[in-house]
Amino acid sequence: MAEYPEFHRQTEARLLRYAAIPTQSKAYDGVWPTTACQQDLAKLLYDELHALGIRAYYDKEHCLVYGWLPAAHLKEDRPIALIAHMDTAPDVKGEGVMPWVLRNYPGGDILLNKEENILLSAADYPNLAQYIGQDLVLTDGTTLLGGDDKAAIAALMTLAEYYMDHPELPHRSICLAFTPDEEVGGLARDLDLKRLGAETAYTIDGDHLGWYQDQTFNAAEALITITGRSVHPATAKGIMVNAADLAGEFLSSLPRLEKPQYTEGTEGFYYVTDLKADCEYGEIRLIIRDFDRVKFQVRQDMLQVYAKMLNERCGEERVKVEITQQYRNMGEVLENYPFLVQDLEAAIRAAGLEPRSEPFRGGTDGSSLSFRGLPCPNLSAGYENAHGRFEFVPVPSMAKNVEILLHLTER
Ligand SMILES: [Zn+2]
Repeated sequence: MAEYPEFHRQTEARLLRYAAIPTQSKAYDGVWPTTACQQDLAKLLYDELHALGIRAYYDKEHCLVYGWLPAAHLKEDRPIALIAHMDTAPDVKGEGVMPWVLRNYPGGDILLNKEENILLSAADYPNLAQYIGQDLVLTDGTTLLGGDDKAAIAALMTLAEYYMDHPELPHRSICLAFTPDEEVGGLARDLDLKRLGAETAYTIDGDHLGWYQDQTFNAAEALITITGRSVHPATAKGIMVNAADLAGEFLSSLPRLEKPQYTEGTEGFYYVTDLKADCEYGEIRLIIRDFDRVKFQVRQDMLQVYAKMLNERCGEERVKVEITQQYRNMGEVLENYPFLVQDLEAAIRAAGLEPRSEPFRGGTDGSSLSFRGLPCPNLSAGYENAHGRFEFVPVPSMAKNVEILLHLTER
């Protein structure tokens, strides 16, 4: 830890600065970026890169910031992109964030807010115990922190500063990118890969220091529409077709245990996110998730089968299934680039940690980038309790990540 004391100081100062800027994204309603406030952080990052003497580009239209550090003292260069997202999750309040640092966490509960008596409870959050003796960046208990993903931005900016301060150090070409709207399915859609100029990439996101992901879900969403026939119930016999009943039957065909609340690890599921139905008309929205490509396809086919069975019984087409693809398991692409994970594991080990990995039960910007031709596993950003008021970031985790990234880029 004492090897790079400046990483502690710098990542902490940066996280405090970035977290205080509201950058919450919101559900897409026809416009990317989904919120204008993300531009405030984009502008700041562009200015900071510039002030460090780093070539940078701010694509204001798409709210994207790029930065480039040319390779130094290497015979052979493989440009590498490092990507973090600027937005914070819409799940809880993300304005008026008041980040503060608890020095040398002694263990036990942490009083986040005296007036409102908000406690970060060591019993509810046993992960706290791992960080006894460390400096923690916390909230005042009324907002999220946004360490997801600003802890990663802090680490990347600190890495960039370190290389600018040490021109004698060898490293690969580094292409930085800060993206908007990751939390709401932005999937780095407007990231210009040609402009970025890297052959491979890593996103820095996710909790728990030293973890990485090279598998994500395959993801699709389905809209099931049901047309009924409404007549007065008194004279309905043989005429009425109740869309609400059909919706119920459709739902009861779904495998009962293949739901988020009954699955873990590499198990897939259906998740009904919205349901409305009356006699005349019904609508079911659900999402489909699976790591395995074949099982993922079968899940989608089965929805069509359930609809067909109902339609056959009705004698006409009353149930319709429309499926929209969302993202795919990056593992399918990454297995062709085994060195990406090998390099990452080596870098984590070189920083004195044991790499750990588990399939990510969600998607990342990397899921989409990998299929666009930029293979992109994910390295954890080291935050904890993300998307909630009890989010916190251990400063040594950010400092360690800078070290991991140094090892990753130095060869
Ligand atoms: Zn994130």
